[in-house]
Amino acid sequence: MKILSEAELLQDRCYIDGQWLDGAERLAVHNPATGETIGSVPRLGAAETRRAIDAAQAAGVAWRALTGKERAGYLRRWFDLVLAHTEPLARLLTAEMGKPLAEAKGEIAYGAAYIEWFAEEAKRVYGDVIPATQGDKRLITIKQPVGVVGAITPWNFPNAMLARKIAPALAAGCTVVAKPAEQTPLSALALARLAEEAGIPPGVINVVTGDPVAIGGELTSNPLVRKLTFTGSTEVGRLLLRQCAGTVKKVSMELGGNAPFIVFDDADLDAAVEGAMVSKYRNSGQTCVCANRLYVQDAVYDAFIAKLSARVAALDVGNGMDAGVTQGPLIDDKAVAKVEAHIADALEQGAAVVTGGRRHSLGGTFFEPTILRDVTPAMRVAREETFGPVAPVFRFVDEADVIAQANASEFGLAAYFYSRDLARVWRVAEAIEAGMVGVNTGLISTEVAPFGGIKQSGCGREGSRYGIEDYLEIKYLCLGGI
Ligand code: ADP
Repeated sequence: MKILSEAELLQDRCYIDGQWLDGAERLAVHNPATGETIGSVPRLGAAETRRAIDAAQAAGVAWRALTGKERAGYLRRWFDLVLAHTEPLARLLTAEMGKPLAEAKGEIAYGAAYIEWFAEEAKRVYGDVIPATQGDKRLITIKQPVGVVGAITPWNFPNAMLARKIAPALAAGCTVVAKPAEQTPLSALALARLAEEAGIPPGVINVVTGDPVAIGGELTSNPLVRKLTFTGSTEVGRLLLRQCAGTVKKVSMELGGNAPFIVFDDADLDAAVEGAMVSKYRNSGQTCVCANRLYVQDAVYDAFIAKLSARVAALDVGNGMDAGVTQGPLIDDKAVAKVEAHIADALEQGAAVVTGGRRHSLGGTFFEPTILRDVTPAMRVAREETFGPVAPVFRFVDEADVIAQANASEFGLAAYFYSRDLARVWRVAEAIEAGMVGVNTGLISTEVAPFGGIKQSGCGREGSRYGIEDYLEIKYLCLGGI
């Protein structure tokens, strides 16, 4: 296996039909910790996207004709290369996104795990034989790749969100045109460079950077694209769903969340605090499964806040490249403004700051890890995803009350609760409206389990044995005259 240098991984051109393509206009990429420009990528639009779609369509003919085992071989080589390049990929990720280097390494391993998993699943796409109701017929289903897939990904997991979409698509026999977030295109291009190195044929993976509206417009309107998979905000998801309606595309949407994190008074409080730290402050609160609303039962409310604030005080804010840093900067000024607005709104309506609450003295987009107490359902933090390091702590009285509050949201991605009462665990797990529920844990994501939401958090599942289904169509064969 050839190991590429950091410079070779830093691609500043787009990958279309196996060619590295330049563009006259450029998009600068910044390091959110320092404000420095670390590179630039082409600002491409509809015409180049069309070219990539045509390439993906053409490449799909041979790619889908391979056996699952053959496609698995390509994915496996890609997986090995990604893992072998963990260190430079993680450094690039931290540079363009800001998360601490240890978390970035974790993300590379997490993204690679999806490639490995779907390399394995490529060999396990089964059909059915259905018992017929007429003696002269035989009923069979086969699974076939959807076709060309458009993939639009966000900046908060620049590597893993892309790997999680491309790997199942390729395993199923689909080809992909991907558009990474404009803040973090370099991680995506580095992944494409490694796919090229793995020998994945030209046109099977294409990465187009540039104008989201132009590229998204082409991906959603071009009839050759048979599926759109998107991870991002609910607002953009709704728009893309509307745009996909014109050509009736299959869609997978991983949209916003507003995860409740419930601590019952029978919980192991230390474990709950540990879970809240992981779930709330990972990636400085910038994940769609981050605890957004912490509900703590009356009797343990003060004790929980005391323990949590001791842990939050020990967080180390700084440049993610520096050793020991656990909280990087927020992605941009817009993100900081939202966090500030949520805090100001809560304080105006009677909440109190336990710790943090302000921009960090480091300046830029650094923000103090924050805890708010005496938070009520009337405040914005109850309804909207904050996407920052703010833990608003609500007080609740009983189980029915907290389930009603937790479910009073248009979102339904992740939820968490802590309890040691087995009957309650079942009751609450069944009652909570979410696609994923962490019970006595704050960390639920793994490639072997289905990731996805209900309600306005989206549709479709990523990872697990279910994840490949999003890239397959069922074809029913009815054999008569037997
Ligand atoms: P965030 O607000 O967290 O940046 P977005 O939903 O805006 O989340 O972004 C997620 C992805 O969607 C990014 O790749 C972004 O470029 C893309 N995007 C944003 N607006 C559009 C659009 N109108 N059409 C297509 N893609 C878009």
